[in-house]
Amino acid sequence: MTIFSKIIAGEIPSYKCAEDDKFYAFLDINPLAQGHTLVVPKHEVDYIFDLDDAELAAMTVFAKRVAKAIKQAFPCRKVGMAVLGLEVNHAHIHLIPLQSEGDMDFRKDKLKLPADVMADTAARILEAFEKDAL
Ligand code: 5GP
Repeated sequence: MTIFSKIIAGEIPSYKCAEDDKFYAFLDINPLAQGHTLVVPKHEVDYIFDLDDAELAAMTVFAKRVAKAIKQAFPCRKVGMAVLGLEVNHAHIHLIPLQSEGDMDFRKDKLKLPADVMADTAARILEAFEKDAL
């Protein structure tokens, strides 16, 4: 079981940003910018391009909805999307609010946001996501 499957199952806590029956979104614990969110399929697959076409398409559409919620909660120029997967072997899309190109530099020092800020960040994204779903 991957660490992200444990998060989805609620065995490890996370700051939830969005969820549906197939996908789960939560804050990256070491964010590049406030609002940095990970989108994962509940179905455990290591490499994103091993997902079948329908699931990859659905994951991208789900990520689009999460990106819209991030942008509403944290106004930014655009929300960037990246896939690395070198650390955690459970397919995930990074969504990062961008003000400049450097916000997406994975080599820079990560932010350490206090728990109350993380909780508030996730709550704002979740609220925007759920409002949009109505
Ligand atoms: P990647 O696999 O895309 O190279 O990096 C994995 C990402 O997952 C990193 O940005 C890292 O901060 C994040 N991450 C790793 N473990 C956890 C965790 O237990 N909880 C959360 N919320 N994020 C994690």
